[in-house]
Formats: sequence, C-alpha cells, structure tokens
Amino acid sequence: MTAPASLTVDLNALSHNFHALEALTHVPVHPVVKANAYGLGAIPVAKRLLAEGARTFFVARVNEGVALREAIGAEPTIYVLDGCVAGAAGTLKSADLRPILNHADQLIEWTSVGGGLCGVQIDTGMNRLGFRPEDAPGPFDGLELVMSHLACADAPAEPMNRRQQGAFAAISALYPDAVKSFANSGGCFLGADYAFDAVRPGICLYGGGPEGRPDARLKAVATLSAEILQIRDVPTGESIGYSRGFVADAPRRIATCGAGYADGLLRSMSPRGQVWIAGGLRPLLGRVSMDVMAVDVTGADVAIGDRVEIFGADRPLDDAAAAAGTISYELLTSIGNRCERTYLGQT
Ligand SMILES: *Cc1c(COP(=O)(O)O)cnc(C)c1O
Repeated sequence: MTAPASLTVDLNALSHNFHALEALTHVPVHPVVKANAYGLGAIPVAKRLLAEGARTFFVARVNEGVALREAIGAEPTIYVLDGCVAGAAGTLKSADLRPILNHADQLIEWTSVGGGLCGVQIDTGMNRLGFRPEDAPGPFDGLELVMSHLACADAPAEPMNRRQQGAFAAISALYPDAVKSFANSGGCFLGADYAFDAVRPGICLYGGGPEGRPDARLKAVATLSAEILQIRDVPTGESIGYSRGFVADAPRRIATCGAGYADGLLRSMSPRGQVWIAGGLRPLLGRVSMDVMAVDVTGADVAIGDRVEIFGADRPLDDAAAAAGTISYELLTSIGNRCERTYLGQT
C-alpha cells in the first residue's frame, strides 16, 4: 500500500543528473547533500552517489556531517560549510569532518585543536559567509580546498557572475596546492571557466533546473504524489474548503486528495497551483489544508485511489514551485516528515 502522501526518489535519475554534470563541467562533482539532501534523504542519496563515483560531499551543519559520516563510512571526504563554529572543533575532529573556515575566529578555533585538513571560503561578493579577499589567510598546513559561492548563478546574464569569477580566479591563484571550487548548480552551466577544479551542485542533482525552470538535460528525481480519498459533485454556489476559499461558479467535480501542508504542499499553492492527473494538469481549488487539498476533476476520468502528481516527471518541480511563488529548493526542503519516502533504484 502506498501512503496517501508519498515521495518517490528515483536514484537512477539522480545518477543521470550526476553524470550529466560531470560531462558538462569535466571536473569532479562534489555533491551538496545538506538539509537531508534537500529533503530527499541524505543517506540513500549519498550512498548512490558514492556508487557513481562521488568521493567528496558537502553538508551545511556539523550534525549533518556526523550523521553522514556514520552512514557512509570513513573513506569519503565530508566538508562542513558552516565551518568550525564555536564549540564544534572536537566533534569535527572525532567524526573526521573538514570545516570550511569562514572567518578568523574559526581559523583560530580550528588551529587551537591542532588544525588538520580543512577548506577556506572566500567571499567574492555575496556578503554571506567567508573571508573578504583582503583578509584571507595565506596558504597554511592542512588547507586543501579554497572555495567561493556565486550570488546570481541562476541568472547567466547577470554581470556579477563574471565579476565574482574574476575575483575568485585572482585570489585562488594564491593557493597553488589547494583544490579550487566555485560553481554551484547554476555555475556548472555558466561555462568552462566557472568549473575550476571541482563543482558543488545541489539542486540540479535533485532535478531542479539551473535557472529556476525545467532543463531537458536533467531528469526529475523527486515525485510527490497524493491519493484521491473522495470524489464529490459540488453544485453551483457551494464553497469548497476552509474560509470558502473557492465558490463553485458552475457544477464541479472535486477530488479530495490526501496531501496537505503537513506533507509539504504550500498554502501559497492556491490559487494558482495545479497537479497532474489523468493525462493533464488540473487546478487546486480553495485552500490547501493540513492533510488534504481539493482538485478540480470536472470531466476527467478519475476514481478514488488514483494518484495526483504534485511534482515529478509530468509536473516539473520548478513549475510547481513557481505556481506557489517560491523556488524548487524551498519546495523540496518543505516535504513533510509524515510523507512516506520510497526509493527507486536502491541497491
Ligand atoms: C547550497 C550550496 C551549494 C549548492 O547550491 P545549488 O544551487 O543547490 O547547486 C553550493 N555551495 C554552497 C556554498 C552552498 O551553500
């Protein structure tokens, strides 16, 4: 039995996307599996990527790194983007995690426990994390990776991309022995001089397009679907759901589907949200509630027990996100714990 709300993760599609990014950039792909691999499950995702040849992973938090290390064994390299946050040096050491040092206090903290293999982030304009170029430490023992992060990689025409690329090329040249990593998913598509020595994609591995819209080079990895629990005919003038969110302007057939905001739908999916059922897109009607949502199936050949696709191969993740006024990243990381996760292609 498939649960009313279900997330299917296609690990073969993940593998396709991983190799597509390798072929595009011609450098090693270091997958970003932070936030539970964007909600898809960091451990099954990382295990499959290991089998595909990935050897280095990025997480954001120290605790994400600890859990990943336990799951994937001692061999792979795990970098922690938060870096050596206060009090974390011991945990980083004991789990053999490599911090990306972002500022001088982190460097001091890391050195105070004896240092060791690590990376440094240089801020080339995003003003988020990292040393400003003028404050960057010179090469030191243990420093094996230098990275920076693009602010506008999803907008190829944005001139800031080129400025950041130039700034990174200049500063990273001061570290001849370190691996240089610059591009996230969007950066992988900006051209050969953005790839440097290794790329750090997240969203494109998971099927989101590099520019916030579907990209034919990538396959859908995540499918969120919901079962039709009830079907009813609603006469003209009657309302549907909380707060009379929709009033029938004509007789409508409504399918009440078993997924709500506790499963990862967003309330902002109404009024523009659509789902895929019976070979076409059908609008959501009224408010998304905690456990269910209403879909207009007037004239469609559907039955109780059929499933609607909220996103997946037929309803691209980026389109579903745009209809809700958000981005693929937020939609994926909003998938609820309650939602049953099933893996295709697990070995
Ligand atoms: C999240 C993150 C990435 C991956 O970004 P995508 O846009 O999902 O490819 C890469 N680098 C850093 C520093 C990040 O925070």
